[in-house]
Amino acid sequence: MLAVDRWIEKHPEWFDQPRIDIEEGHEGWRQLIDNAFSLAEQILSDHAGASFRIVQVKEKFGALRIYFHEKGLPTEVSDRLREIMQCANDQSSYVCEICGASARLGKRRGCYSVRCASCAPDGRAPTSEI
Ligand SMILES: [Zn+2]
Repeated sequence: MLAVDRWIEKHPEWFDQPRIDIEEGHEGWRQLIDNAFSLAEQILSDHAGASFRIVQVKEKFGALRIYFHEKGLPTEVSDRLREIMQCANDQSSYVCEICGASARLGKRRGCYSVRCASCAPDGRAPTSEI
């Protein structure tokens, strides 16, 4: 079960036909997703009247992206949520998307991905461009 699915069960009100584009079996980012959503959960518990919707969770250019919409939150709270999602995005470049081992963003045949040495035995050229 994907990390996101557990959150959909726990907070169905956060998800309105979300697009989840994380490959089945790719569990390496579970911790990042759990961290981000736990922090969001804490923050949102103080703002019961606001609406918060996760629109997309996906892998883009090799990194984890979490997009959301909110309504009724104070600007600083909204900014904090954006920071949290951005932080998960930053950290995902160093975590193998399949197994969670420490890894580096690499590029192979034009596709970006984050794989550790055992998940990409044929190697991926590390890259710092993007
Ligand atoms: Zn791996």
